Amino acid sequence: MSRVAKESDMYTTICNIWNHSLLHVKIAKPQDVCAICEKIRKCILDAVTEENKLEATNRLMEHILDTQRILTIFV
Ligand SMILES: [Zn+2]
Repeated sequence: MSRVAKESDMYTTICNIWNHSLLHVKIAKPQDVCAICEKIRKCILDAVTEENKLEATNRLMEHILDTQRILTIFV
């Protein structure tokens, strides 16, 4: 699988997690995401090595899952 295909799959996975956990938050609108999401998203975009991209992507997934847990408690 090419690097672009892997990144595309990873992005799709993140979008799926996001859409399942945060239906009311649109991923395409930067003003709708929190500062942590923005920071990690920038890390993913700026990452050069595949290791850095995976690390940043994992951080975003952990952040989304943490947010989902918090929403489960308060919503
Ligand atoms: Zn966030």
